[in-house]
Amino acid sequence: MKEVASAGRIPAPEQMKKKLIDYCKSINIDLTGIVAAEPFTDFEKAWRRQVERGFISGFEEKDIARRVNPFLTLESAKSIIVCLFPYFTGDACETPSNRINLSKSAWSIDYHIIVKQKLEMIALFLKQHIDNFEYKCFVDNGPFSDRYLAWRAGLGFWGINNCIITDRYGSYVFIGYIINNYPFEPDKPRERTCLQCFNCVKACPGSCIPGDFTINPQRCKSYITQKKGPLSPLDVEILKKTNLIWGCDVCQEVCPHNKNIERTSLAEFLRDLKFGFEYNELKQVSNREFLKLYRNRSFSWRGKGVLLRNYEIINEKCK
Ligand code: SF4
Ligand code: SF4
Repeated sequence: MKEVASAGRIPAPEQMKKKLIDYCKSINIDLTGIVAAEPFTDFEKAWRRQVERGFISGFEEKDIARRVNPFLTLESAKSIIVCLFPYFTGDACETPSNRINLSKSAWSIDYHIIVKQKLEMIALFLKQHIDNFEYKCFVDNGPFSDRYLAWRAGLGFWGINNCIITDRYGSYVFIGYIINNYPFEPDKPRERTCLQCFNCVKACPGSCIPGDFTINPQRCKSYITQKKGPLSPLDVEILKKTNLIWGCDVCQEVCPHNKNIERTSLAEFLRDLKFGFEYNELKQVSNREFLKLYRNRSFSWRGKGVLLRNYEIINEKCK
């Protein structure tokens, strides 16, 4: 295992944290926090309970040890840098709501591309200041719960809808993190929770928000829109409840914490927006053409067939 900060470049952790935060701000990331690299014992308990209840999507890391122990991902880990990437477009969206059928999270170029690029910029900056800096960056593809990390890093508080909510940008934030071998000073989690108005519980099309800060992903419309293979009658019923053919924004749209929020600080989330598909756009394009046109969009990873299926179910089109 390499030790950080060999002779010549030994920045003090408090100075280095300030440099990190300042650098993140210079690239328009204004929500950055730190989690100490240590086993997430509190999370492990909650996660095991979720697994017992079947409240998992199947996209999460399956090995519980890797999910809760940072050292199994980076042996030399000392801390995890967590960054939030707000994506609310505000008045950049003037499209009539009946022409929107993609979730807000999918309007821009694929957030995985945008976030990964920013995380790599941060890591490169740190490599220039810290000798033997080791790291791994993740956005959605990491072993840990990114929402848990965002909460632990003090960047937001839990909503009953299981989202992390920030004061400035509400819950419309993507989460990325960098596990690394530098001992940045950890931040403290926020003690408050959401207003607990239960709007999200009442409005959820999948009735999958029980009210205890968890959700059942198996009944979440967002998950169902990404599901391949045959859908159950219940899946179809849930899909039909709202018009989005990819994702679901209901529990965020009804949340009072998402009123009067600021629009994204990142220009990348305001460019090349695509709000929805017309039926013929999907029906007439070949699979190959679809992938060529939309390979840099987050809705494309399941292919055209899943989107077309969703469209046809929701709009009751004959196949
Ligand atoms: S995304 Fe939609 S279906 Fe999923 S929990 Fe929120 S409101 Fe319910
Ligand atoms: S809608 Fe109400 S209960 Fe749901 S997350 Fe927002 S404040 Fe909490």
